[in-house]
Amino acid sequence: MSLDKHFFTPEGTDTYDFSEGKPTPWQSNQEVDRYVPTHCCYCGVQCAMYLKVAAGKVVGVEPRYDFPYNHGMLCPKGTTAYQTVNHPDRLTHPLMRRGGKGGALERASWDEALDTIARRFREIQAAHGNDAVAVYSGSSMTNEKCYLMGKFARVALGTRHCDYNGRLCMSSATGANELSLGIDRAANPVSDLPHADVVFAIGANIGECFPIITSYLWQARDRGCKLIVADPRQTPIARTADLYLPLRPGTDSALLNAMLYVIITEGMVDEEFIRARTSGWEETKAEALKYPPEPVARVCGLKPETIVAAARLYGQAKAALLYTARGLEHQSKGVDNGVACANLALATGNFGRPGAGYMTLTGQGNGQGGREMGQKASQLPGEREIENQEDREYIASVWGIAEPELPHAGYPATLMIPAMERQEIRACFMICSNPLVSLPDQHTVERALRRLDLFVVTDFFLSETAELADIVLPGNVWAEDGGTSTNLEGRVIKYNRAVDPPGEARLDWEIVCDLARRLGKGHAFDYHSQRDIFEEVRVATKGARADYYGITYEKINAQNGVFWPCPTEDHPGTPRLYEDRFGFPDGKARFHPITYLPPAEEPDATYPLVLTTGRVIYHYLSGNQTRRTPFLLEQAPCPWVEMHERTAERLGIAEGDWVTVRTRRGEMTVPALVIRTIRPDTIFIPYHYGHTQAANILTNPVLEPMNKIPEYKVCAAAASKAEQPPAWAKDFDPALLKLAGRNRRALPSAGGRVGPRVR
Ligand code: SF4
Repeated sequence: MSLDKHFFTPEGTDTYDFSEGKPTPWQSNQEVDRYVPTHCCYCGVQCAMYLKVAAGKVVGVEPRYDFPYNHGMLCPKGTTAYQTVNHPDRLTHPLMRRGGKGGALERASWDEALDTIARRFREIQAAHGNDAVAVYSGSSMTNEKCYLMGKFARVALGTRHCDYNGRLCMSSATGANELSLGIDRAANPVSDLPHADVVFAIGANIGECFPIITSYLWQARDRGCKLIVADPRQTPIARTADLYLPLRPGTDSALLNAMLYVIITEGMVDEEFIRARTSGWEETKAEALKYPPEPVARVCGLKPETIVAAARLYGQAKAALLYTARGLEHQSKGVDNGVACANLALATGNFGRPGAGYMTLTGQGNGQGGREMGQKASQLPGEREIENQEDREYIASVWGIAEPELPHAGYPATLMIPAMERQEIRACFMICSNPLVSLPDQHTVERALRRLDLFVVTDFFLSETAELADIVLPGNVWAEDGGTSTNLEGRVIKYNRAVDPPGEARLDWEIVCDLARRLGKGHAFDYHSQRDIFEEVRVATKGARADYYGITYEKINAQNGVFWPCPTEDHPGTPRLYEDRFGFPDGKARFHPITYLPPAEEPDATYPLVLTTGRVIYHYLSGNQTRRTPFLLEQAPCPWVEMHERTAERLGIAEGDWVTVRTRRGEMTVPALVIRTIRPDTIFIPYHYGHTQAANILTNPVLEPMNKIPEYKVCAAAASKAEQPPAWAKDFDPALLKLAGRNRRALPSAGGRVGPRVR
């Protein structure tokens, strides 16, 4: 193919020759055979890129300048994602544990592995019922695979227990969207951001978790947009905010209610919008009026005048965009927090216009599509409800089964763990998930997974979780298959296959279909490509809230993605929701009064600090991929604990000291990073590491009552100087730690608004 003349050449760049494990010069003189257009496999932005293929191998990446949202930009993860494809750690043949639970994982043939799985699943189901086998799926997979996993669980296994790791990520957002707006999708495309007069980011570390979105923020600010940030940590965008609110973790809904109080009492409510387009206002207004700024400021650890200033900035904007992410959602009150955000946006009429809306930023690559393809415990494809008779009958007809054969709702992922521990669930098929890093209270999770009679993991690396499996099936990375993904805007985009999987590794969807055949259900899984599966997705979602019927592979390519809902082939798609109506039958959004409740654990004499956890720019989720990428690992080689210099001084801790952090679940020892960009009552540990480096050894497994997301962002903790380093420290290069510390050290706060850039 002919290349755009603006493409840079890779000469002079270094890469790594994984076969030798040391840096070698870039293969700059090697001809690139093909440039395959695709998208980054990591976060929900799903930046467009070309993969460079030479001699059947992916050898590099070029950003795509011609795609409408990343315009040639890629963050550090995107530029290095291709290095996972040829990585020496790739699984290249099936593995089976021989000699019982204490035995080793050894090479097996595909026939032996798949026949064993099918036989054991059938035996376990015959002895304990169909629901004794669970499917634990992922959301960093194509829509086609997410759809396939929901169908595999319900049709091939006939189990009600099917859920996915998006439970740990997007379920608070889903709950709030469904309660308030009626559709579980971002209200606006990212291109709306530059039209905002005010952006309010609460619990959203945009600069590190969605780096490319930052450029849109700057476009908005170039035309005078004000930025409000509420976060216990002064994140990169917070350092440049017009107004920064360092709120105490877990107090989000109190702050949002107090802002609504000010908006009501100072006459900034959009009465006409509320009357014409919403219901339930009076009850919500009455509740919000119980939250004057002065007492709320004490709860949130803020100054009352800061809350008033934030409310005025937001309430007076002609168009305001409210962004949230896991900071607000990873809480036992996560759904309430999201509803409180929606209340604020609805009260000020901030929906259905450019620059006006409420968006939860999706963390996983296909966190949006993954939650609407029918792999959730309570859902069928298209955001259809598994307990709705009409939805059940429709999907049963698409799948060629009688409606009574379709299982009912099962356990969400977080409740599968206790069910495994009490041996109600006795076998599990897991794909593209790493709960032994990502679930809270790791000791309990490990105990539960070890109790399974049969544990099968499909993945492309031997993750911490796969190490525990009885059978490991080698699957594909994103560059080895096609299919669609739905980004954080609700835009359906297309991956394209660049190379074949290595060794005996197979495409994930082929593995699942092969297993379905061995379970006697091959007739329902007679697909020959991801396109075949997508054609069925179109039919399965037809007429549903998340309607993909009008989306085709050709249309995605022609339009640079298509936003759902897209009900017919001549429909252009729907970039902005709620222009005329919300997603409920009466077309009106619904206010819900929110009563602030404190986090499940609050500091006390034994655990006087608040521990919060999160991401850093260099790693993705459980780190199964990014910890194998040399540049990313070098930048963030191990976890650390960030603490304020006043806290460190009080505890006698200096930068680089080993610190033991304790909670009611366990303890871990990590190096200290002493900073000023965090509340003195709060400490932070990144969660991308495994085994004894897993922050989730410490976190609280308490769940949000409706959507069952854990409270990753708030628990009571204690910290003290460690008597000795952890065992893993002996393998650790202190120079790397120093480098990591430097990278985490924040620039001094800008102390207020950073003006427009000089072009
Ligand atoms: Fe873009 Fe996200 Fe990939 Fe970074 S990680 S390149 S922001 S999709």
